[in-house]
Amino acid sequence: MRIRDILRRKGDTVATVGPDATVRQLLAVLAEHNIGAVVVSPDGTSISGIVSERDVVRRLHDRGAGLLDRPVSDIMTAEVRSCGPGDQVEDLRRTMTEHRFRHVPVVEDGRLTGIVSIGDVVKSAIDELESEREHLVGYIQGAP
Ligand code: AMP
Repeated sequence: MRIRDILRRKGDTVATVGPDATVRQLLAVLAEHNIGAVVVSPDGTSISGIVSERDVVRRLHDRGAGLLDRPVSDIMTAEVRSCGPGDQVEDLRRTMTEHRFRHVPVVEDGRLTGIVSIGDVVKSAIDELESEREHLVGYIQGAP
C-alpha cells in the first residue's frame, strides 16, 4: 500500500499555522481539529517546521506559562522529514518507529499535499490484515 492510498481515504486536508502564530493559537488549532500536530507554514504549501503537542508539553515544563505568548517558531522542529504520495506505507512505518515521531507531511512537487499520522498507518495495516483474512477464509471455505 502506498501513501496516496491513505490520502484517498482520509483526504488531503492539512492543518497549518504561520510561524508567527502564538503557542496559544496553536493550542486552539490542535483542540479545534482534535489533532496532535500541525505543519508550520507561511503560505499553506511550503513547510517551515512541524510542531506537536509533545513540543508544547516539554517546553511548558521547561519555560512555564509565558510560553503561551511566544511564536510557534520558538518550539517547532525545523528539520522536517516528509514523504511522497508514491512512497510505501511500510517504509513510512519504519521511519516513524525509528525516529519516534507520529506525523509525517506528504509533499508533491514541493507542495504540501497531506499529512499521515501513526494512527493512519496502523489503520491501513489493520485494513490490509482484515482483507487478507477474508481472502484466506474465502479460499479455505471454497476449497473442495
Ligand atoms: P510527535 O510524535 O509527532 O508528536 O512528535 C514528536 C517530536 O518529533 C516532536 O518534537 C515533533 O516536533 C517532532 N516531529 C514530528 N513529526 C516530525 C517529522 N515529520 N519530521 C521531523 N520531526 C517531527
